[in-house]
Amino acid sequence: AKSRGGNGYQFFNESMNKNAVRRLQLENQLRQALRNNHLQVHYQPKVSLKTHQFVGLEALVRLDIPGVGIISPAEFIPLAEETGLIIDVGERVLRQTCRDMREWVASGAVDGRVAVNLSAKQFLQPDLTQRIMNILDEEGLDPKCLELEITEGVVMEDPERAIQIMTELHFCGIHLALDDFGTGYSSLAYLKRFPIQTLKIDKAFIDDINGAERDRNMVASIVAMAHNLGLDVVAEGVVNAAQASTLHHLNCEFAQGFLFAQPLKRDQFLAHIKTPVKK
Ligand code: C2E
Ligand code: CA
Ligand code: CA
Ligand code: CA
Repeated sequence: AKSRGGNGYQFFNESMNKNAVRRLQLENQLRQALRNNHLQVHYQPKVSLKTHQFVGLEALVRLDIPGVGIISPAEFIPLAEETGLIIDVGERVLRQTCRDMREWVASGAVDGRVAVNLSAKQFLQPDLTQRIMNILDEEGLDPKCLELEITEGVVMEDPERAIQIMTELHFCGIHLALDDFGTGYSSLAYLKRFPIQTLKIDKAFIDDINGAERDRNMVASIVAMAHNLGLDVVAEGVVNAAQASTLHHLNCEFAQGFLFAQPLKRDQFLAHIKTPVKK
């Protein structure tokens, strides 16, 4: 390199450069992980707040790159979305999840549903339903064992189109959940028309549920409204017993969070749910 003058312009360029380099590196890592099958699916249990028993699970993807370590989806999903690689990522996650779930259902280890996250690009694929039904068919999983999580933000971008897509999926027997609820905005008029079965309340509302009356009231209203619409409610990011207890008193029936379990590798997950819950 030549002179490294101290002016702001050059500094700005260097930090932009660093981001560009990291992005490129991440994209290469993602492509390589796809080539070498280094995507991993972890599973987080969903529990009943009444019994604290296991009732279902959510699939969460990770990149596990030898020599580098685990890269979180928060880091690579946005890039996968921008580059279009998300289609490939999403199909592999769905396929692996269906394969694992079929085995667990067949052995009697698990019943209930497994939830898989859908990104914006995936959701808007014209042949989405057919692709998903093909994977379910090839992996031998009953559609009623699958739940798809779609974020409120994605659905509200074009609600009319979203209703069409969700209606198709629901018609095939797949359950639908509105994810990260409360972070975007849904009008009640739409919420009523969405063929969904579950609302997942975003962790942001749960964090301070015992400290902030406003948050607690908000959750109480969301739960009441969801129940009026015939929907189940899942609270995300429950980390302590006080939160679980408050949620239970607010009539929220399900939860996920580190209090119960982190997302676990498939073998750890199986061991976890085979261990009876302490009463
Ligand atoms: P999400 O769908 O809202 O998933 C919940 C996130 O919260 C997960 O992060 C989970 O590990 C984390 N979490 C669960 N319980 C707790 C808790 O008690 N405390 C805290 N602090 N965090 C908790 P993760 O696995 O890093 O995933 C982040 C996001 O990446 C997901 O948010 C989802 O939007 C996206 N994502 C993950 N897997 C997939 C996938 O297969 N496809 C797509 N399209 N997106 C995915
Ligand atoms: Ca989710
Ligand atoms: Ca969520
Ligand atoms: Ca989230």
